[in-house]
Amino acid sequence: SVMPEKIDYVFKVVVIGDSAVGKTQILSRFTKNEFCFDSKSTIGVEFQTRTVTIKSKLIKAQIWDTAGQERYRAVTSAYYRGALGAMVVYDVTKRQSFDHVARWVEELRAHADNSIVIMLIGNKADLVELRAVPTEDALEFAEDQGLFFAETSALNGDNVDKAFFQLLEEIYGVI
Ligand code: GDP
Ligand code: MG
Repeated sequence: SVMPEKIDYVFKVVVIGDSAVGKTQILSRFTKNEFCFDSKSTIGVEFQTRTVTIKSKLIKAQIWDTAGQERYRAVTSAYYRGALGAMVVYDVTKRQSFDHVARWVEELRAHADNSIVIMLIGNKADLVELRAVPTEDALEFAEDQGLFFAETSALNGDNVDKAFFQLLEEIYGVI
C-alpha cells in the first residue's frame, strides 16, 4: 500500500469583501472545482480545504469564508487570527464593492498579523458587458497598497487556481 503523504504546512487564508461579490463561489471553485448556481448564503461552514504541492512541499490551504458577516466591522478578530494570507474580493460589475476594498484592507491591517500576504481579487470578469471597474484602477490601488492583484471568474474558473497558487507561493516565501 501507498504511504499517506504528510502535510508539511497548513496555511490559513481568509476571504473577505462585500456581500455577493462571489467569495463563496471562488472558494467552491478552488476547493471542489464547482460553481453552485442556486447558492444561498450558507451559514455554519467555517472553512474549506485543498491540499496542493508548492516547491515540493505538501501544503493544506485552509480557506475561511465569512458566511454572511460581511457588514462593516461585523467580522470578528477570531476570524483573522493566525491567517497567513487574505483575499479581498470585489465584483468588477459593482463599483461600490471596489470602493469598499480600502475598508476591508484597513480591517486586515487592524486585526491580522503584519506579515499577512494580501491579494486583491476582481471577480465576475466573465461579465464583460457589465464591467464597472477598469483593471487599471484596481492595479493602481493594489500597487499603492502593496497588494497582489488578479481578476477572476468563479463562474468559468478563469484565474481562480492561478490566484490561489500565487498567494500560497507568496506565503511560502515569507514563512
Ligand atoms: P458572496 O456573498 O461574496 O459569498 O457571494 P456568492 O459566492 O454567494 O455569489 C453571489 C452571486 O454572484 C451568486 O448569484 C453567484 O452565482 C454570483 N457569482 C459569483 N461568482 C461569479 C462569477 O465569477 N461570475 C458571475 N457571472 N457570477 C458570479
Ligand atoms: Mg458567501
